[in-house]
Amino acid sequence: MNPAELALYPFERPATLAELCRTLSARAGRRERTVLLAGGTDWIVERGFAPPENPDDLPLVLDISRLPELRGIQLAKERAAIGAAATFLEIRSHPVLLRRVPVLTAMAREVGAVQIQARGTLGGNLATASPAADGAAALMALDADVVLASVHGERRVPLTQFFTGYRATRRAEDEVIVRVEFVLPRTGAHQAWRKVGTRAAQAISKVALAAVAEFERGRGVRAGFGMASVSPVTASLPTVRALALAPSLASVSDEELDAATRHDIAPIDDIRSTAAYRTHVASALVKAFFRELRAAAGS
Ligand SMILES: Cc1cc2nc3c(=O)[nH]c(=O)nc-3n(C[C@H](O)[C@H](O)[C@H](O)COP(=O)(O)OP(=O)(O)OC[C@H]3O[C@@H](n4cnc5c(N)ncnc54)[C@H](O)[C@@H]3O)c2cc1C
Repeated sequence: MNPAELALYPFERPATLAELCRTLSARAGRRERTVLLAGGTDWIVERGFAPPENPDDLPLVLDISRLPELRGIQLAKERAAIGAAATFLEIRSHPVLLRRVPVLTAMAREVGAVQIQARGTLGGNLATASPAADGAAALMALDADVVLASVHGERRVPLTQFFTGYRATRRAEDEVIVRVEFVLPRTGAHQAWRKVGTRAAQAISKVALAAVAEFERGRGVRAGFGMASVSPVTASLPTVRALALAPSLASVSDEELDAATRHDIAPIDDIRSTAAYRTHVASALVKAFFRELRAAAGS
């Protein structure tokens, strides 16, 4: 979309979350269209590819990128709360996240290139609900909750239940994602971010895996997975997760991991890859993660 076209859209910048929620509620009640604009790295690009809109019926664009309630990264009592308007650059540079949640900071380092990381936000990544969304995969592995706000207050949706289909979510028209929350992985948790794409930067994944596993006395006590680009929504790999919690990792064979991965994904052929290649890579990534787990758990 060229800047002149963008300038045609009615535009407002609410000063507070309460003001934003009131506007969203009133407009949803009147069935008027509204676009929430954070970094613009999805919406502006998508508008550029889509057919032009009727200039007499444009949605109102609400800039939420500077809303204080959506900004910032808070850490307290072993929990993280990351504002929906936090950028990937802020995430990848955060000293505590770097130490405690490398699955998230490694993911943020590989989103687009630094220009996209400086604008793109976690909230935008979740709201777009692309199956290739890297942020969604990492947050899925962390068992994150999505916190939504409206004039009726806040509600919390586990990320595993947030996506309802290809590019569809449980967010209602009058709601905004305010933040994501998750329990920090315990110190020593095994975390991995593996993104397979055409090149190191500016590449949407063919397949990406986020994985987190925690152990006590050699036995898995918590495991979380998120896989991108292998199904209509980010895959949480429940069958693979169950295997990571098996009484003995040594007893989990590569054949079982292969079967579990195939069970948990539904890849397609598209411009970036084929279903067959995605299946092969997904299985290889899961097996490699389990090899690392066995080594870390000493089994
Ligand atoms: C060159 C390029 C490379 C990219 N590479 C990657 C990549 O490697 N990995 C990846 O995952 N993505 C990638 N993307 C996609 C994009 O950058 C990310 O999805 C980013 O997180 C989108 O965030 P944003 O703030 O820019 O969203 P926006 O474009 O501002 O918004 C996207 C959608 O989300 C809605 N929205 C935004 N914030 C909220 C909120 N708080 N509550 C409710 N709805 C909201 C908007 O209304 C809009 O519909 C790339 C994009 C480009 C252009």
